[in-house]
Amino acid sequence: MSVDGPNIPAVGVLKGVGAAMVNKLERLGIHNLQDLLFHLPIRYQDRTSVKKIAALRIGDEAVIEAEVSVVEIKLGKKRTLLCRVHDGTGSLTLRFFHFSAAQKNSLSKGKILRCFSEVRPGPNGLEMVHPEYKGLDDELPTPIEQSLTPVYPITEGLQQNRIRSLMQQALRWLESGELAELLPTELRSQWGLPQLGKSLAYLHAPPPQADRELMATGLHPAQRRLAFEELLAHHLTLLNIRRSVQQQGAPVLKAPADLCARFLSQLDFTLTGAQQRVCAEIATDLTKGVAMLRLIQGDVGSGKTVVAAMAAIQAVENGLQAAIMAPTEILAEQHYLNFQKWLAPLQVKVGMLSGKVKGKKRALQLQNFASGEAQVIVGTHALFQEEVRFFNLGLAVIDEQHRFGVHQRMSLREKGKNGKLSPHQLIMTATPIPRTLTMSAYADLDCSVIDELPPGRTPVQTVVIGDHRRDQVIARVRKACLEQRQVYWVCTLIEESEVLECQAAEVTAEQLQQQLPELKIGLIHGRMKGAEKVEIMQRFKGDAETAASIDVLVATTVIEVGVDVPNASVMIIENPERLGLAQLHQLRGRVGRGSVESYCLLLYRAPLSYTGKQRLQIMRDTTDGFKIAEKDLEIRGPGEVLGTKQTGEMQFRIADLQRDADLLEQVQSLALQVNTDPQLSAAITRRWLGTGEQYGQV
Ligand code: ADP
Ligand code: MG
Repeated sequence: MSVDGPNIPAVGVLKGVGAAMVNKLERLGIHNLQDLLFHLPIRYQDRTSVKKIAALRIGDEAVIEAEVSVVEIKLGKKRTLLCRVHDGTGSLTLRFFHFSAAQKNSLSKGKILRCFSEVRPGPNGLEMVHPEYKGLDDELPTPIEQSLTPVYPITEGLQQNRIRSLMQQALRWLESGELAELLPTELRSQWGLPQLGKSLAYLHAPPPQADRELMATGLHPAQRRLAFEELLAHHLTLLNIRRSVQQQGAPVLKAPADLCARFLSQLDFTLTGAQQRVCAEIATDLTKGVAMLRLIQGDVGSGKTVVAAMAAIQAVENGLQAAIMAPTEILAEQHYLNFQKWLAPLQVKVGMLSGKVKGKKRALQLQNFASGEAQVIVGTHALFQEEVRFFNLGLAVIDEQHRFGVHQRMSLREKGKNGKLSPHQLIMTATPIPRTLTMSAYADLDCSVIDELPPGRTPVQTVVIGDHRRDQVIARVRKACLEQRQVYWVCTLIEESEVLECQAAEVTAEQLQQQLPELKIGLIHGRMKGAEKVEIMQRFKGDAETAASIDVLVATTVIEVGVDVPNASVMIIENPERLGLAQLHQLRGRVGRGSVESYCLLLYRAPLSYTGKQRLQIMRDTTDGFKIAEKDLEIRGPGEVLGTKQTGEMQFRIADLQRDADLLEQVQSLALQVNTDPQLSAAITRRWLGTGEQYGQV
């Protein structure tokens, strides 16, 4: 037998599984016997012993054996069959809303029944509603269950009993030893992991004394063992991707020289220690001739842009192009202006492409990219388009992107391929990502952290305030503007609708204009055209020639990412309770960029739930993005934090990144061991992730 084990039979081989059942099982992601066995119970029932009626409590799920004393049909709004049973310690009513005449007749006085159901309160004491039951007066004793009864996640038209009986068949197949144990014995004993087969058998049919509470938390060793292997498979996939990247050659760039030095000397600040360290890490990567794949994590305002600029200049210094991709038009525009300002004095040509660049201008830009005339290229997703050709892309930077899957990481690399050489890649996160997630979601990347803010920043003061005090908030806005500050007023999603969000912003802008006639109120939202948005931002920010002409910018969350207007020092966020913490942090990061004291007012709609209150308190108490990200992970889970919930990436069958976070370190080191055996590694990843199309294997 190869290490992959034999082919796993499809569910169709099971007795009683026809096309209709195949479909139902497919809905649960179950295609073959292995999938079926990985479909774990959500909980268990204990039918292994018969309970006395006197000992039952409301809410218990229990087996009883009792004799029928009275059977009657109660008429009323709903015909009901009531059957009174007793077992010598007490009595109880069985209640049926749906029943046949035959059923009624079979429940005759004196008959002994074994019933299982949840115990509920009724008008005459305890009841069981629609219990499962069978008669016991046969000659043969009916055996009681030997193991706990599993309750599975099911889908419409698939009953528990059906899936249980299919599972019984799958367990017999498992017993025959057909499912390969992939983890070598030494590794299993080193990490204290039970066998795969034993773990599965245990979880589908636990012995009566099994710790149900422990299993309910998902922390039973048998469950951990499976989670462990799944996390391992996931990790190995990322390591594979990484290995394939490392096999791709990339241009060798000489270390930063004169141009970089000139760039640094013309900045009006010096790099922080953290920025210098990260720049050095990148510079070293770029000299290696292996495609760099590095993630830069840094809190909002930690100065990631200038780090990207340094890398871009190193590429230019080596005669190659660099591209910087931003997630929004506003941000692309802002980067374009910054890079222009920084690079024009160095005679470096900057190009720009986004949806709003059209017609002749667009043609010219495209021509400049293809001819190499443009050395640094800034843009939005438009850079991905078919028509875009680079002359010799040496570096691709992806900014402010936490909603960025493995797929996209790879497609940009493809795009920039130049002969056999791949461009180097730098990815900059929009928000810090908790360490446990970085370890698992970004195992294919090297990671640098900018863990220091530029000096002279005063932390933003955050105030949590109810909307009954809106007038005071408005007074505060007036005062701030009279002191020449600028204000963001953010309207958040009221329902899951961009249209409504934009309408809310429009209404708010009108109201504020009435309440604050002496101020200039601007409006920006996601349904405006790209050019219009850019113009509004321009008027809010001002430039060397024209002073800013907007005092208060009413905005939807379009301004969430990256926007940098240092004179804006007050932010109001309406209904902050509707947003995730990371998003609030990201929004709040728009203020506190200058040297004046900044404020963020979280204007919530009262009353606030207990957790709502707690979450806003976290925002009030800390401005540390890493701490906030940890809390966000606790509250909302990894799918939301990584933004992979929609893409379906990072979805596990059994593992839970949060619950199993403590396994990740072991997983990581075991992955390195396993990775030295490509066959084994392939078998494990194939088992859990199929052929890997989910990751778009390279
Ligand atoms: P982010 O990491 O959020 O992308 P930016 O790159 O937009 O942050 O930088 C935020 C602001 O800080 C910008 O105005 C930038 O010019 C400024 N900045 C960056 N590095 C430094 C530094 N070392 N000292 C002072 N200001 C800096
Ligand atoms: Mg940024």
